[in-house]
Amino acid sequence: MADCDLCSVSLPTLNPVKVVMPRFASAFPKGTWVGLCDDCLKSAHEVNGNTSSLSSSNGDCDLCGAKTELYPVDIEFPSLSKGVDPDVANLCKGCLEGCTEAQIRKENEPKSEHH
Ligand SMILES: [Zn+2]
Ligand SMILES: [Zn+2]
Repeated sequence: MADCDLCSVSLPTLNPVKVVMPRFASAFPKGTWVGLCDDCLKSAHEVNGNTSSLSSSNGDCDLCGAKTELYPVDIEFPSLSKGVDPDVANLCKGCLEGCTEAQIRKENEPKSEHH
C-alpha cells in the first residue's frame, strides 16, 4: 500500500508524478517521484488546462515545496466521520505539468485487462 502525496488516501498503486523539489534539488537535480491517486491526478490535470481562468496565489507548493505562484486543486481527504473531506491543495505550474504528463501517460497506457 502507498499513500497519495496530496490527499493521503492509501491505495495499492498510485500514479507516479515527477516533480522537482527545490529542497532536494542538489541530490536529485532531475526531480523526484511522488505518488498521486487517480482523483488527485485528474483534478490537477484539469486545473493545468485551466490556469489562465483561475486566480493564482503565492505560497509554498503542497507537492514540491517551491515558493512560487500556486493554483488551487480540489482534492478529497479520506475522513472517518464524513467519508470524504473536501479540501484544496495548492500546486505550482511545474507540478501541474507533471500531473498532466502522468495523466496522459496513463490514458495512453495499454489496459492490462484482456485483449
Ligand atoms: Zn489523492
Ligand atoms: Zn510544485
